[in-house]
Amino acid sequence: MWNEFFFSAPRLKRDSLGRPFEISTTSLCTRCGKEPPVTARAADKIHAMGGPSIPVGICMRCALADPSLREEFIRFAKHRGEEFVKRMRAAVARPLETIDDFVARLRD
Ligand SMILES: [Zn+2]
Repeated sequence: MWNEFFFSAPRLKRDSLGRPFEISTTSLCTRCGKEPPVTARAADKIHAMGGPSIPVGICMRCALADPSLREEFIRFAKHRGEEFVKRMRAAVARPLETIDDFVARLRD
């Protein structure tokens, strides 16, 4: 009964706005250890849209904070258009509020 409870636990959790929030249930960011890492699916999607290759195992906040990735994020943002640039600059300056929104858009 306990095994069944643990193994059938839903993998989809919801964030504070009730959107489905895909997280890894087994690991945290290998850099900060505080947030779930970017999923392989989200990383693939960012890369497919012309964005940087986010290293496996790190969260979006650490990816945006990484100097070597930041250049690529800015370039990616310019490529995606002015509105996106504003959002990404806001994300770089104030990561916490905007990253969830950014990642949520990638899932649409
Ligand atoms: Zn992190």
